[in-house]
Amino acid sequence: MVDVEEWKKKRALQAAAKELVVDLLLHKGLYSFITIEDEIQNEAERQIREANVGTFDCFCTTCGQVTPFISQSMPVKNSGGGLRHGDGLSRPPSVFALRSVCQRDLTAYLYAFQKVGDRLIKIGQLPSMADISFGELKRIDKGLEPGDRKELGTALGLFAHDAAAGAFVYLRRVFERMIHRAHQRRGEPVEGFDQKRMDEKIEAIKDALPERVVTNRKVFSVLSQGVHELTDDQCKALFPLVKAVIFQMLEQEEHQRRKVAAEKETEAALQAVLASGIKFENGVKDEEKA
Ligand SMILES: [Zn+2]
Repeated sequence: MVDVEEWKKKRALQAAAKELVVDLLLHKGLYSFITIEDEIQNEAERQIREANVGTFDCFCTTCGQVTPFISQSMPVKNSGGGLRHGDGLSRPPSVFALRSVCQRDLTAYLYAFQKVGDRLIKIGQLPSMADISFGELKRIDKGLEPGDRKELGTALGLFAHDAAAGAFVYLRRVFERMIHRAHQRRGEPVEGFDQKRMDEKIEAIKDALPERVVTNRKVFSVLSQGVHELTDDQCKALFPLVKAVIFQMLEQEEHQRRKVAAEKETEAALQAVLASGIKFENGVKDEEKA
């Protein structure tokens, strides 16, 4: 008989582990790792080793949109033991590779991992995280100033190569300028805005920002600290969040731009119809008569 409680526990464990794995695949730069200590981390290691990750959503650089990806394992030759016969028994395989495939057009992303002691380290990825982010950014970057685009590019490139603190310096500058411009766009300036802490700035211009940012603004108060006060781990943890917020703000701006453009187009088409002099008011009735 299947023990329902056991089964539920197993499913919860698998889901928690998958979260770790997907975070390592999609959000963590090279040489980031999972420390294999507890049950969840052990399960995460197994999911990577056996390519048992299930489906996850990721931006596909070919499709230009977020699509579902499925992973399969790629056997790596000589991944265990030394050079002598039998070494494989005492030193099991330690290098694993995954091939994750877009289910829309079969674009493949490759990932490589090495287990060193109790750490499972991400040692390779193609396309790079920066390339994936650039692809994602391309759709929505019209709202970026050229200087911001350059610095955001530097940030993404540095983060993909394990330079989290340096990456964060650039990302933070872009974020601060976006907040500054959002404030300027409001028309009505908030008194003493520039002197406020980041969480207070967010509160002050909340209408212009994604709701999750506003409700979780305390997280962003850390951005008011000096760069030297932040640890590398804090930078690593904050980078994906601040990046996601910047992308979401750009997405909102792009959405707004498209809405305005569509409204203009509709208005122009309507004016063209009215100017054509063709009568439409009685059109339906005339047809009904005929
Ligand atoms: Zn695709």
